[in-house]
Amino acid sequence: MSAPNIETIVSLSKRRGFVYPASDIYGGLGSSWDYGPLGVELANNIKRSWWNWAVYERDDIEGLDSSIILNRAVWKYSGHETTFSDPLVDCRECKSRLRQDKLEQDADGKFICSNCGSTNLTDPRPFNLMFRTTIGAVSSDDDPTALAYLRPETAQGIFINFKNVLDTSRRKLPFGIAQIGKAFRNEVTPGNFIFRTREFEQMEIEYFCRPEDAPRIHQEWLDSYDQWIQGLGISSENLKHYEQTKEELAHYSERTVDILYRFFPEREDEAKQWDELMGIANRTDYDLRVHSKKPEDAEGKRINPDSTEDLSYFDTATNERFYPYIIEPSTGVNRTLLAVMMDAYSERTNEKGETRVILKLKPEMAPIKVAVLPLAKNKPEIVEMARRIKKDLQPAMRAVYDDTGGIGKLYARQDEIGTPFCVTVDHESLEDGAVTVRDRDTWTQERISVDALKEVLQKRLS
Ligand code: ATP
Repeated sequence: MSAPNIETIVSLSKRRGFVYPASDIYGGLGSSWDYGPLGVELANNIKRSWWNWAVYERDDIEGLDSSIILNRAVWKYSGHETTFSDPLVDCRECKSRLRQDKLEQDADGKFICSNCGSTNLTDPRPFNLMFRTTIGAVSSDDDPTALAYLRPETAQGIFINFKNVLDTSRRKLPFGIAQIGKAFRNEVTPGNFIFRTREFEQMEIEYFCRPEDAPRIHQEWLDSYDQWIQGLGISSENLKHYEQTKEELAHYSERTVDILYRFFPEREDEAKQWDELMGIANRTDYDLRVHSKKPEDAEGKRINPDSTEDLSYFDTATNERFYPYIIEPSTGVNRTLLAVMMDAYSERTNEKGETRVILKLKPEMAPIKVAVLPLAKNKPEIVEMARRIKKDLQPAMRAVYDDTGGIGKLYARQDEIGTPFCVTVDHESLEDGAVTVRDRDTWTQERISVDALKEVLQKRLS
């Protein structure tokens, strides 16, 4: 079972402290969200899993953390200043502002307002999605010499550091650079909880290779991402690939495949249940070329007169100089978190006929690995023993102590936030030095000696 809809996750998130509406005490700020005590742990677990998998477990990837605000020239030559826009239309009937490329069309090809159903829409006009800001103590807010942007993707920070990383790490092709960081897009229609927001986080790899190797490497990254995503606990039934058509491809891309997740299972039309979780693009040699000082256009004019570097690569084995091709797997932390939560969601009826929510997260993803619960909080010896067990476990796994309710309530709370194990300390524990370990998914209970507890839990969590 997975969540029946996103709303179920919105309410669980707010109730238990995964994600809250941002600026809530001032009425909120359209489609902004804050990550609470459990949300930040889950997001960190996703990022840690990705970094381990993408950087540490391979021998061909280096890490990077580039600036959010870059020289404006980066966005000029990348093409973002002129092309990073969505087609904006206004509905003349209900005054909604909409993204034309996300609207349905009627039999005559007219776009239909997703709010009121009218086809009385304005002509589309491009709306640039980059957030603008100014640098330094400028005289006026629209001073063009001070204009800068918040990055709308982490990728460009990687391209402009290609030579730095190449020279300092003494890499040879093929190799990649990985980066996790915030990105900002002034989306026309944000929404669906954390699926589409104006501030989000990306995990991107730019993998540099010889042009002739690019198609093969593209396919290898696709296969490998399928495995990583499923390793997070996301079922293959809720995942599929989408090959972008020629018309949909970005101007720099030779091939892009999106990995879709079933974010909208409640929709009747199966085709509409899916949306993009991540994308993997073959960006060709476009990026390193446009940021280099040497390439010229058909009239012999430098395409980038502002760059001071040439980002080509010299292959010592073949004595060739060329601009490497780039394969780019780009993933959103927030969409991944939503998919992980939706897929882990399940319900179970207890012996009293009450429905309980169980978040069946993989142990690696669980914000808390074990909760230590005293059966009687008015008995100091039991409380002391429980606190000591928590302290002993903590260096090895994220453990919490909780005595804020009856045991049934405490179990239910831990099930709902995905804690794989609860350890209960009772009167007998004081006599026999053993505790009850309760399993989240089966609700079975087992007596385990405190001396063996850490090792047993570590084994089950791995
Ligand atoms: P979409 O078509 O959904 O707008 P995109 O194709 O523009 O997405 P990319 O530019 O390929 O997205 O960005 C890579 C990844 O970053 C996406 O697959 C998604 O996981 C994440 N992402 C992009 N835009 C947003 C957003 N506004 N909110 C949350 N995550 C986002």
